[in-house]
Amino acid sequence: MNNTLSRSAVCLFLLCGGVATAPAGDGGETPPKAEPRVIDPGPPPSDAIVLFDGKDLSQWKSEKDGGPARWEVKEGVATVNGTGSITTRQAFGDCQLHVEWAAPAEVKGEGQGRGNSGVYLQERYEIQVLDSFNNKTYYDGQAAAVYKQQAPLVNACRRPGEWQTYDIVYHAPRFDGAGKLLQAATVTVLHNGVLVQDHVEIKGSTGPSGAPKYVAHPLKQSLMLQDHANPVRFRNIWIRDL
Ligand code: MG
Repeated sequence: MNNTLSRSAVCLFLLCGGVATAPAGDGGETPPKAEPRVIDPGPPPSDAIVLFDGKDLSQWKSEKDGGPARWEVKEGVATVNGTGSITTRQAFGDCQLHVEWAAPAEVKGEGQGRGNSGVYLQERYEIQVLDSFNNKTYYDGQAAAVYKQQAPLVNACRRPGEWQTYDIVYHAPRFDGAGKLLQAATVTVLHNGVLVQDHVEIKGSTGPSGAPKYVAHPLKQSLMLQDHANPVRFRNIWIRDL
């Protein structure tokens, strides 16, 4: 048998005999018994918890004093105003998160001082918000970086003033009873629909200096948005428990 004939024979075997003898479902898995739930994809999806719909910040509190969140809310938008970071009243673990943000249209400052805010998963793992349009800084500190740990795969930043989206899939870390890390947190981020963090392992709490390290915490923690003294705007924030 020549090579072409031999390859054809192998293909024929795979198409016929090969498939016939393979276990059902490729891996022989038991087919799922429950039908996937039907939801309205929205946006926001019907099974999402809406954290900000443009009306008020009742789902949020001040990180400083636990009082009401005091960012300015006007025309469907919440704007950072120097009153401090805000955290959700509800705690979350594994989740899918959607956030829309815009850096100030009027460009002021540079590097980390331009349109800086942040989405802090579980109050301690920051996905950086920054005006990274024609604004150089350290790569793991630009928009959509896991701050000081992982630069984004590409810079998908829109112009200052334009609305941008983060879609985040996050799996919380697991600790044992003694506080030992069993499983690191992972995060996937799409910035304006573009994959920029691909199931990245988070190395510990993010911060400006020192090696990241895990400190044990409950499975569910609040989400936090950072006040970095730049008037970054937010709208349409929703989350789905996973
Ligand atoms: Mg920040």
